Amino acid sequence: MDNSLLIKNVLLDGERRNLLVRDGRFVCMDAARGAEAAKVIDGEGLAILPAFYNTHTHAAMTLMRGYGDDRPLHEWLEQWVWPFEDKLGPEDIRHGSEIAIREMISTGTVFFNDMYFDIDETIQLVEASGMRAAIGVTMMDNHPKTLKDEKATRIRSWKDSDRIQLTVAPHSVYTAGRETLLDAARLARENGRKIHIHISETVKEVQDCLAQTGMTPVRYLDSLGLLGPDVIAAHCVHVDKEEWDILAERGVTVSHCPCSNMKLGSGRFPYELAIASGARITLGTDGCSSNNNLDMREEMKTAALLAKVTGDAALLSAAQVLRWATRNGAEAFGYDAGEIASGKLADAVLVDLSNPKMTPCHNLVSNWVYSADSSCIKYVICNGKIL
Ligand SMILES: [Zn+2]
Repeated sequence: MDNSLLIKNVLLDGERRNLLVRDGRFVCMDAARGAEAAKVIDGEGLAILPAFYNTHTHAAMTLMRGYGDDRPLHEWLEQWVWPFEDKLGPEDIRHGSEIAIREMISTGTVFFNDMYFDIDETIQLVEASGMRAAIGVTMMDNHPKTLKDEKATRIRSWKDSDRIQLTVAPHSVYTAGRETLLDAARLARENGRKIHIHISETVKEVQDCLAQTGMTPVRYLDSLGLLGPDVIAAHCVHVDKEEWDILAERGVTVSHCPCSNMKLGSGRFPYELAIASGARITLGTDGCSSNNNLDMREEMKTAALLAKVTGDAALLSAAQVLRWATRNGAEAFGYDAGEIASGKLADAVLVDLSNPKMTPCHNLVSNWVYSADSSCIKYVICNGKIL
């Protein structure tokens, strides 16, 4: 049998439609009533929305959910996270990533950008799950699991599939020295890989970088030639106007992680500067132990509310934050997805309009961002397949 999927009578842009999916893409947005397909979903009472792209996480950190809570980033990393991680083996990573994948699918996420260790375990699980992922080959100078030579061979020999890509992931300016950062950039560019890095997450990171290099992290990384359209920069909380212009000019994608920034007391993302700069902004959950879940819908609501906290209720609308969580993330990683439209990859969620949290439905996107929770999700579809 072929791989076609028919979603019957589903709400799209205010109208009931029959959507036909074939070879992982939407091929007809108005199929005839009597259309047939290998698999059929009755969309009566459901609405279709783009699925989430989580652009910054550490999947296996689900193992540390609720561990070492209520501490600032550097104390939390040095006294809790890193000693815990030293004890983890591949089997543990497998369990942690499996919990993450189950949670992400159940909350409407079809893609995650990961940075962790023992990546083969996570790759195998992503393969089997039907999700998409960008898996980072992590580089940290102070970490025994990040041997440079092994990493380089791995990056050079890897071939992407339609759902899984490998990235080069120098962790941050405070864990990767100048040589490692330069190596990472070279390795990524020689092999057409994206670069995944934490940038300017805390005041301490910025101050330490200034003391050591005379520059802030964004300016320092730019001076090394690391910033470019292939870079996904997580956090960017403490970034000034001139630095936002640099990020936008270089085409860097920023992964905003509001829950993690709030929980670790890292600070408020400068929404006004970020949006005005025109840089591509996406959303991430960060790892589970600084969130404490991987629910991208919660991340949207948190971002939209945090944007408005200082007094501008019009800043970061529901439609805009949904775009950050879906289309912007897909685009950043080269997936032709994030919109429910003909020709696009069929990555979608079907939500139950009869759920009290979706009722009444004056505005579907508003309900989805501000009111819903994952109990409203009926189906999650990735690459044309129901997960
Ligand atoms: Zn992180």
